[in-house]
Amino acid sequence: MINRWLVGLAAAAVALPAAAESVNVYSARHYDTDDRLYEMFTEQTGIEVNVLEGDSDELIQRIKREGDASPADIMMTVDAGRLWRAEDEGIFQPIESDVLDERIPDRVSHPDGLWYGFSQRLRLVFYNKENFDPDDLETYEDLADDRFKGQICIRSSSNIYNQSLLASLIAEHGQVDAKEWAQGLVDNLARSPQGGDTDQIRGAAAGECELAVANHYYYLRLLNSDDPEDREVAEQVGVIFPNQDGRGAHANIGGAGVVDGAPNREAAIKLLEFLASDEAQRLFAEGNNEYPVVADAPLPETLQGWHQDIVLDDVNVSALGRNNPTAVRIMDEVGWR
Ligand code: FE
Repeated sequence: MINRWLVGLAAAAVALPAAAESVNVYSARHYDTDDRLYEMFTEQTGIEVNVLEGDSDELIQRIKREGDASPADIMMTVDAGRLWRAEDEGIFQPIESDVLDERIPDRVSHPDGLWYGFSQRLRLVFYNKENFDPDDLETYEDLADDRFKGQICIRSSSNIYNQSLLASLIAEHGQVDAKEWAQGLVDNLARSPQGGDTDQIRGAAAGECELAVANHYYYLRLLNSDDPEDREVAEQVGVIFPNQDGRGAHANIGGAGVVDGAPNREAAIKLLEFLASDEAQRLFAEGNNEYPVVADAPLPETLQGWHQDIVLDDVNVSALGRNNPTAVRIMDEVGWR
């Protein structure tokens, strides 16, 4: 039984059941599979899980407002840029765990144990199968090439996924070249940024643009949709995994860390360790068709038979957060709306 609170419930802390042992998760994730995940944890450990769901920034502000009285043990969110924001606000405390050290790759963990990645999402390029030859584009860098003038759909710069993508280019090339890239990309836009990632894929399918940048799971959602029109959209586009002959595709994470002052610190660490187990890895990833971070963990069904041997950018994802303010400034300077 999962105890779920609603954001805005004034007396959340007092409303908590007096379970023998429990852990309180503030989560910006909301997938049905998460309930099964927490139930499994309770079965294995006897520790009850209470979940408060909300928007990432809301949850961070809430933890700050609650201060020492906060019941929050774990803060969970998506994108290293958002984990960094939480880190920057002083939300997390460092933890040490042999299990996490052994199971979670360094690349997706904070160097000081402030947070850990538990699933991965790839930011990819989709192309209109009729109008575009996929051999013409190999890298993210290519997106700024003036061969592609007026051909690219990508969402606005306020979106954390694009901020993190630019942050990865800053990590690779430095801010001068990254700014030049961002300018080139903006100059190549087919239309002014609008909508979410799915809308970019739809734009490419409809021929409004030849190329669209989007996270892989939005495409898989269309491909596996119950709606035949969605599946048709997916069929009209192909996928390019960028930089496979170089540093690899841009991979971001869903992750979590232990909150500074967590009242149930030990239980919180146990829950994070549980999330690194094979079965939990599959379930955690399955909610959003993501890749597990643990190398040999079983894949969610929708990813079985899809691309697997992908070279991933090996930059530590904490760099995406560190470079976030620079990325945001560059986007503003080049007029990426
Ligand atoms: Fe998303």
